[in-house]
Amino acid sequence: MQQINHYINGQHTQPSARSAAVFEPATGEHKANVSLASALEVDAAIELAKKAHGPWSEMTPLNRARILFKFKALVEANMDELAAMITREHGKVLDDAKGEIIRGLEVVEFACGIPHLLKGEHTEQVGGGVDAWTLNQSLGVVAGIAPFNFPVMVPMWMFPIAIAAGNTFIMKPSEKDPTSVMRMAELLTEAGLPDGVFNVVNGDKEAVDTLLTHKDIQAVSFVGSTPIAEYIYQTAAAHGKRVQALGGAKNHMLLMPDADLDQAVSALMGAAYGSAGERCMAISVVLAVGDVGDALVEKLLPQIQALKVGNGLEGEMEMGPLISAQHLEKVRSYVDKGVSEGATLLADGRQLTVADHQQGYFLGGCLFDHVTPEMTIYKEEIFGPVLAIVRVKDYAEALTLINEHEFGNGTAIFTQSGEAARHFCHHVQVGMVGVNVPIPVPMAFHSFGGWKRSLFGPLHMHGPDGVRFYTKRKAITARWPKGKGAQAEFVMPTMK
Ligand code: NAD
Repeated sequence: MQQINHYINGQHTQPSARSAAVFEPATGEHKANVSLASALEVDAAIELAKKAHGPWSEMTPLNRARILFKFKALVEANMDELAAMITREHGKVLDDAKGEIIRGLEVVEFACGIPHLLKGEHTEQVGGGVDAWTLNQSLGVVAGIAPFNFPVMVPMWMFPIAIAAGNTFIMKPSEKDPTSVMRMAELLTEAGLPDGVFNVVNGDKEAVDTLLTHKDIQAVSFVGSTPIAEYIYQTAAAHGKRVQALGGAKNHMLLMPDADLDQAVSALMGAAYGSAGERCMAISVVLAVGDVGDALVEKLLPQIQALKVGNGLEGEMEMGPLISAQHLEKVRSYVDKGVSEGATLLADGRQLTVADHQQGYFLGGCLFDHVTPEMTIYKEEIFGPVLAIVRVKDYAEALTLINEHEFGNGTAIFTQSGEAARHFCHHVQVGMVGVNVPIPVPMAFHSFGGWKRSLFGPLHMHGPDGVRFYTKRKAITARWPKGKGAQAEFVMPTMK
């Protein structure tokens, strides 16, 4: 049985006293045990990261960037191995796993520009013989806590910018799929990263709570479900830390009658069923405006029934299993609930079996029609391959529904009307908006984040917000006086 421990100060550690089982979702096999760090073990990791911060933050930004360039090349050289690790523990299909690594690497590429990104502002002669400028300096030791659904990409939303800016980092991956982050830690060491700059602590609530309350952790980045995001935000902020805590989602596609329906249906298939719906930017609701609903169902249903569901390691699959037996049960129970609350179940993935994988956590694509806003399957995040069609009379009703939903992560409008699209972009209360783009995940040089209960904290992840989050600004005002000494002034200094 494989044993996964922690990666601290450039080395794998001994096992902890407690551990959790790691499963392969496609087969249901118990493949590994992951150590769950005690508070004392987390304390020790923070202490080493704190020691590493001094020399690391003094290294020139250009030299820090050069290590990230090498890391990028190593990730690319080990792409197949990393992708297989993701697929084995998470279940998503191999090409999707590679896509996640590439989207993560884009943040590394952005962070390689850190010499430019750290530049401050300078004003000469703000007063007679006085100049003013700003510096962006690292915070110290910062922490990241990740969900199971992007075991490589979400950590890469965080640590490349954090370490490029001169911080040292403690990563706490999901205990469900920790292997790929451990491999990235090894690759960072191989790229020349000094020991203690990037550390992985595996664990559960005990490890997380230690990070949230420890005096030497300066900032916490979190991605996961909304109840935990809110807890992280409140607890870490109460302990004086900067926090960005990204939570759950219920992303709506607004489908106008004038949309190119074939394009919209293809977009929906990937956005609703890719990665078995376990994406925070998955589309889980379609608002079918006017009479577009019947034509939508007619085109969508055969494609859902033709979905290739199976072991993601097998090249031709389109959708893999869910993450765990418990999550499969939870998603199935949402489907049961949708039926009992009166929605029409047009595609029932509960019937699916995958040959030679009877113990795998598979669920076929599910499609509900005539869902209403009072139903549980409309209100709550399901995080599975379950798409709900809500029929609405017009655009205004659709926009109101999106704006009244508690989540505001992503949304998309499909239309050929520039006027409708522009109105939508301006008025929708959601952080990331697509126009004929189903999953509008911003590129690494922009920032990623939702609104409402999809994000707690003012700054989004990566891009300019990432640099802002992981640095503190210092403003300097300087004079080099010559000649006679200055006289004491007892009024508010003003620049003359
Ligand atoms: P989760 O909230 O269960 O876990 C996330 C992390 O928090 C894990 O590392 C876990 O160990 C830790 N954790 C769990 N319970 C905890 C507790 N009681 N105290 C302290 N720490 C705890 O989320 P998940 O199931 O791993 O991931 C799926 C969720 O993440 C979905 O809701 C999804 O929408 C969300 N997500 C959001 C985004 C986004 O950008 N907004 C991106 C990816 C995933």
